[in-house]
Formats: sequence, C-alpha cells, structure tokens
Amino acid sequence: MCDETRDFQVPIDIEGRKLTMGDLYELTPMEFISKVMLEEKVFDTWYSGRAVLLGDACHKLHPNGGQGAVTAIHDAIALANVLYAMPSKSSSDITNAFEEYRGERYPAAKEAFENSQLMSKITDRSLIGAVIFYLYTSMPMWLWRMMLIKLVRFRPQAGFLKALEVKGSVVPVPSPSEKKARAMFEKHQRDATFV
Ligand SMILES: Cc1cc2nc3c(=O)[nH]c(=O)nc-3n(C[C@H](O)[C@H](O)[C@H](O)COP(=O)(O)OP(=O)(O)OC[C@H]3O[C@@H](n4cnc5c(N)ncnc54)[C@H](O)[C@@H]3O)c2cc1C
Repeated sequence: MCDETRDFQVPIDIEGRKLTMGDLYELTPMEFISKVMLEEKVFDTWYSGRAVLLGDACHKLHPNGGQGAVTAIHDAIALANVLYAMPSKSSSDITNAFEEYRGERYPAAKEAFENSQLMSKITDRSLIGAVIFYLYTSMPMWLWRMMLIKLVRFRPQAGFLKALEVKGSVVPVPSPSEKKARAMFEKHQRDATFV
C-alpha cells in the first residue's frame, strides 16, 4: 500500500519542493507509523446488560465528513444525562437509561453516517467523484446552508450543569436526555435551597 501511494503529492513544500506521501513515510520514525482501518458502519446493538457503547465503538463514520469526534462527544453528553437522571441503580433503570440514550443518539449517528458517506464521494478518484466535487463547489449558498443546518442541529447540552445560552441561527433538535437531566438538576438545586 505504501508503494502504491508513494507518488501522491501532499500540500506541503520544503524550500519550494512539493512533498509526496513517500517523503512523509521516509521522514517519519517507524514507531510512529500505524495503519488505521477505515470501517464504516452504524451498529444496531449499543448496549447489553451493564455495558454500553459510544462513539466509534457503535458508529464508525468516514473521516471525510469530519463528524466522528463531535458525534462521539454528543453521545457522551446524552449518556451522562440519562445516567444522571436515573431514578435508581436497578437493572431495569439501567436498561431504560441505555434505551433512552440509544433512542436519542441513533438517528443523529445515522444522519452523520450518511453525510460522511456523501462527503467521502468528493475524494473518489472517479468520474462520479469528479461530478460530485463539481456540484459541491458550485452549489448555491442557500443549498450549502441547508446542508450545514443538518450538520449542526444535533447539539445536546449537559443537563446537570448550568444551561448555556443557545447561540447561532440554527435551533438545536430537542434532546430528551438533556431535558430530563435538567429537570432533575433543577429539583436538586431547589431542594438544596430549602435545606
Ligand atoms: C484518519 C482519520 C481522520 C479523522 N478525522 C476526523 C476529523 O477531522 N473530525 C472528526 O470529528 N473526526 C475525525 N475522525 C474520527 C475521530 O477520530 C473518531 O470518530 C473519534 O476519535 C472517536 O472517538 P472515540 O472515543 O469513540 O474512539 P477512539 O478515539 O478510537 O478512542 C478509543 C480509545 O480506546 C482505546 N482502547 C481500545 N481498545 C481498548 C482496550 N481493550 N482497553 C483499553 N483501551 C482501549 C484506544 O486506544 C483509544 O484510545 C478521523 C478518524 C480517522 C481514522
């Protein structure tokens, strides 16, 4: 694989000479080189018993979408919210919390997955890739905006912390886990005031 990609140019130049992937391989110490498997999948199973998954463990997105990390962080927020709002530590409450978490995050992960797949086509070295690249770079601003709105509308907050003012022109999709955690947080705050 290294030999196949050795002649690809990279957007870096040293003293006017454009570097290639081959130059990067030679300049990098062997112990820093590792192969990352590019897998793409949204798994159906996100939890079993007391074990629960988030991020790449349950949805691997193509890196071209640039959404893998933010989707994992949003999972963590939603999971923390449902754990915070659990009425007890019983097995059934744990299962319900995990189900609520999955119910909230699965559609977001699926959408991020589909967006990332579409973005990955841009770098396809094929005719279809070239057509999609052309369409992307010449599409009108309003269409870009519609796409960006889809990208940024899932933004859960930690309901167990002071609410942050929602900024920006895109209203976030309501997060049931945030609402639930916020109600519990406010109850704790009220109870603490009366003690
Ligand atoms: C080439 C590439 C480019 C990317 N670019 C972007 C980008 O521009 N923007 C973006 O948002 N996302 C990008 N991503 C995706 C992003 O890196 C991942 O979606 C994100 O890191 C997922 O976070 P995670 O915590 O779920 O998993 P990881 O970051 O993979 O964390 C899992 C951790 O668990 C550890 N681990 C694994 N097995 C065990 C074990 N048995 N015991 C203990 N620890 C273990 C691993 O060492 C690792 O540290 C890119 C991914 C790749 C491969």
